[in-house]
Amino acid sequence: MLIGGIEAGGTKMVCAVAEIQKDGACAKIIDRISLPTRQPGETLTEMIDYFKKWEIKALGIGCFGPVDLNRNSETYGHITKTPKPGWENCNIAGIFKDALRVPVGFDTDVNGAVLGEVTWGAAQGCDNAIYITVGTGVGVGVYSNGALLHGLVHPEAGHMLLQKHPNDTYQGRCPFHPNCVESLASGPAIEERWGKKAMELADCPEVWEMEAYYIAQAVTNYIVTYSPQKIILWGGVMHQEQLFDMIRTKVKEMLHGYIHHEMVEEKIEQYIVAPALGENPGILGAIRLGALELEIQK
Ligand code: ADP
Ligand code: ZN
Repeated sequence: MLIGGIEAGGTKMVCAVAEIQKDGACAKIIDRISLPTRQPGETLTEMIDYFKKWEIKALGIGCFGPVDLNRNSETYGHITKTPKPGWENCNIAGIFKDALRVPVGFDTDVNGAVLGEVTWGAAQGCDNAIYITVGTGVGVGVYSNGALLHGLVHPEAGHMLLQKHPNDTYQGRCPFHPNCVESLASGPAIEERWGKKAMELADCPEVWEMEAYYIAQAVTNYIVTYSPQKIILWGGVMHQEQLFDMIRTKVKEMLHGYIHHEMVEEKIEQYIVAPALGENPGILGAIRLGALELEIQK
């Protein structure tokens, strides 16, 4: 059976179609396109035309936010208060549902990504896992007790407040919080602080020491709150792969022996990991959201 998926981002829209086994055991992407995110009218029309070429049974959307995930709300499936021109209050799930007449699963982009990794990737078998992306922004998808965590709105753990590094004089870039994770550790924050593209700073140890200090603080806080069984870290900034070991070491230091578990004490390299699905956790997670919605609506 064919299921469609959309990884809806502020800069690009990835649309894909996957062949998925009835038991959900595996999903194979058979086609995909990527479009720049322009005004909603033209972008969504192009996406709808793409999916109309396939006989999909359901569609899943992992969407940039903030979004309304409350099924009892009149604005369920909408992008809510975004600064992205034209997209505020866009009924993205409803538009696809009306145009394609199939069940549409909907969640945040990072919840989609954690679901992809739980279903087919590094967090298979986990009831609790988190996916952290450190890119243009910082986002965290949370899978808790076997379900994606929503709540009052949805977790915004990229805006968790951190202690400043003693050598950091940078003022932060989040308009709401001078010292949240996104403010201090996102790719653009690195570039503004050091005055160079993050990629060009690869050989500057002080840059990555500070970066690891911030990400490790965030991860330490997520461990003591969500108690994840697997922590998946990705996004453009994590392409600096030296960060993984630096973060693992600092997390152990920051936990300071408080959490007694072999995953922390002996196997932290298997605990804090890159995605197993490469660049695909988000799109595969979106496809899984579609498959789950089809089951709900049966
Ligand atoms: P987005 O968050 O928009 O989906 P990415 O996850 O690719 O996109 O993140 C883009 C950010 O990641 C850029 O702002 C850049 O600062 C940073 N980045 C991209 N590639 C690298 C790299 N190789 N090393 C360090 N930082 C990088
Ligand atoms: Zn913030």
